[in-house]
Amino acid sequence: MAGKKSTRKFKTEVQQLLNLIINSLYSNREIFLRELISNASDAIDKLRFKMQTETDLVDADTEFTIRITPDEENRTIEVSDNGIGMTYDEVLENIGTIAKSGTAAFLEAMEESGKDTVLTPELIGQFGVGFYSSFIVADKVTLITSAAGSDTAVKWESAGDGSYTIQETDKETHGTTITLHLKEQEDNEQDFTAEYTIRHIVKQHSDFVSYPIIMNVEKTEPIPENEQIKDSEGKIVGETTRKYREDDTLNSMKAIWAKDKKEVTDKEYEEFYKHISHDWNEPLEHIHMKFEGTTEYNALLYIPSQAPFDLFSPERKNRIHLYCKRVFIMDDCQELMPEYFNFVHGVVDAPDLNLNISREILQQDHLVRNIRKNLVKKLLELFSNMEKEKYEKFYDEFGGILKIGIHTDFANKDKIAELIRYKTTKSDDKLISLKDYVTNMKAEQEDIYYITGENLTALLNSPHLEALKEKDYEVLLMTDPVDEFVVQSLMEYEGKKLKSAEKGDLDLDKIDDSTKDEYASLFEHIKTVLEEKIKEVKPSTHLKDSVSCLSGDTYDMSSFMEKMLKASGQKPPEIKRVLELNISHPVISKMKGIYEKDKKDQALKDYCELLMDMAIISEGGKIDNPSKFSKTVGELMADALE
Ligand code: ADP
Repeated sequence: MAGKKSTRKFKTEVQQLLNLIINSLYSNREIFLRELISNASDAIDKLRFKMQTETDLVDADTEFTIRITPDEENRTIEVSDNGIGMTYDEVLENIGTIAKSGTAAFLEAMEESGKDTVLTPELIGQFGVGFYSSFIVADKVTLITSAAGSDTAVKWESAGDGSYTIQETDKETHGTTITLHLKEQEDNEQDFTAEYTIRHIVKQHSDFVSYPIIMNVEKTEPIPENEQIKDSEGKIVGETTRKYREDDTLNSMKAIWAKDKKEVTDKEYEEFYKHISHDWNEPLEHIHMKFEGTTEYNALLYIPSQAPFDLFSPERKNRIHLYCKRVFIMDDCQELMPEYFNFVHGVVDAPDLNLNISREILQQDHLVRNIRKNLVKKLLELFSNMEKEKYEKFYDEFGGILKIGIHTDFANKDKIAELIRYKTTKSDDKLISLKDYVTNMKAEQEDIYYITGENLTALLNSPHLEALKEKDYEVLLMTDPVDEFVVQSLMEYEGKKLKSAEKGDLDLDKIDDSTKDEYASLFEHIKTVLEEKIKEVKPSTHLKDSVSCLSGDTYDMSSFMEKMLKASGQKPPEIKRVLELNISHPVISKMKGIYEKDKKDQALKDYCELLMDMAIISEGGKIDNPSKFSKTVGELMADALE
């Protein structure tokens, strides 16, 4: 039943990516096979998972295999699986687009950075564009697939030139068959239809795939004596050997997580990682563990060397494959890893697990909870023991998501606090730990100071830090949105309070009451002028050189938080802020002079508004009436220049 054929265009970013892949990965061509095999293996995993609840989906005695069929004469190579297959809509969704968020933006940036940008395998790995790697070796790709449980099939075909065709077709069995029509082979290039080449690639990249990868190969056997052709004197005249064909399994299917550490080579660890993660980079680190005792299980976990683009996307799944005695259960066992470790890939094999466990039960399962606790503990240990350089690399990629743990994992909050790093007013652009901060604290310093905001330069120059700088106190510069949650949850570290440099009083040099009284009446007046914008005017404990700044009460929302909420389309509650004025600044005493002479002086009103605007500008905010501001400043300059 061949349905109507329709020709469609790839999404622009797919075609862009395709071109980049084809141009960039020439010297890595052979990995197309690994990618197709990984997809096939995933498809079988998915089907087996589905069969736990839909037992009659396919024949119970189905033997799951991946088959490679080369055809030297026609220069094709076919990879087929009897996995879950795809429906018409799934083909459209999975093969014509790249679902990953951020891809389009990334490609745009690449485009802007220069026309001849080359995409390295490392970069491509982050998209998981496995299937498209077929076009490095093929000038036409045909995919025929039938979803398990459905009686229709779909044929998708493309020459990788911007469009593809899709139509309904027939296919006897469920699963997917991908046929690559190979490009012309140049001299001294590998022949991907050659048995030797295929064996070699499978052995190198896909040996541990847990389903047999089968190829029908030609073999030679000796012809038995009694079947040989002999002449009248009994001498053999015909062939002594004959050729026959047979299915061969190309991979050993050894579960490397079940092996002893000593028996696994670095290369094997690496290849296994690439298989389960669909990442093309080497992992940064792995841990291979065997737990014995009340809970017994094996775990092999990997830390990628690069964060994927969608690290923070809520749809992003973590990639822990769950097995029970080497039998696959599910490929995305979220229950085993907290959100802040959602970048960890790996396998957990727990022999005591119920094979038919559902996701719902899994959440409450005592054993699963125990394993999760242990894995988190081991990972935290791994990170805290990592050598400095490696840790910096890790932190650079995953520090942001790790910090979420401080907010969400109360039990491990303190351990995670040991792992976080910040730039500070004194660290010279380097990241330091809270431990280092405490070690560097001044003898009389009691609290840990921090300031939050999106722009490092603005923070470094924030007027709020003037008094702290004069004391030579270090301040943590927090520029990551998640830092707002860190400071909400991490109230103290090693008994030292975390104190905002922006909110509340600093208690550094107390302002005595008589000084306060001296200015009370002027400040009351300024407050009346700015009534709608601020809740209080007070002498500042933050400022040294600047005249004014805005601050909040200790538990008010920070200006960074307010900005973030606005940016995400939410309406933060209107919180009026406090206008802090520097009473040792000549401007304030001069304003006091005017005030005492004539409260109604227009200049006084203008200056009040200027103080407010200057405070907003100094923290990178937008003032209400910029033209009025520049007019007043212009007039002031003219006066000063006279
Ligand atoms: P990735 O595998 O990293 O998601 P690919 O571009 O290789 O990216 O594949 C895109 C999607 O197409 C897969 O996520 C999967 O849903 C689907 N797919 C690819 N190959 C197969 C297959 N052999 N059987 C079923 N689905 C497949």
